[in-house]
Amino acid sequence: MAILPIVETPDPRLKQVSQPVDAVTDELRRLMDDMLETMYAAPGIGLAAIQVGEPVRVLVIDLQELPEGEEDEDKRVRAPLYFVNPEILERSQEMTTYNEGCLSVPEQYAEIDRPSVIRARWLDYDGNAHEQEIDGFLATVLQHEMDHLEGILFIDHLSKLKRDMVLKKLTKMRKLAA
Ligand SMILES: [Zn+2]
Repeated sequence: MAILPIVETPDPRLKQVSQPVDAVTDELRRLMDDMLETMYAAPGIGLAAIQVGEPVRVLVIDLQELPEGEEDEDKRVRAPLYFVNPEILERSQEMTTYNEGCLSVPEQYAEIDRPSVIRARWLDYDGNAHEQEIDGFLATVLQHEMDHLEGILFIDHLSKLKRDMVLKKLTKMRKLAA
């Protein structure tokens, strides 16, 4: 496995629409393994293939949740999920707001509203098909990652004024780090 460089805004690759995958091959599994390792190292909880420069409809997600009652950060449980060619079939009217961030918009956060419950269809790591209702934090993360497949970043859901503020903060942060 390998840690891949993460594409960051304003790289134009993040604006492109990713293409569906024909089949889940060993080559694709290698990409998913590398994406997962890259995501854990960042660290992050979700990554779309275009964020490592591959314009294919593939996502990895691992919420790495703490078991109930556990407070030790080292006890987070890894449970990787793989989504190939994901599609959203239904969205609830009810919305949920989360303070979102993105590895391609480093260290910037903003509150984004998204449908609370979705019904989604996808292929997994082994190429098996799934169709399932998803709610809670996973629903938000999946919708955030699926936006990447359409060339949409979470900051694109903000007003231009708010988006420009985030991008200004990012530029300032990069200057300080340089
Ligand atoms: Zn993202």
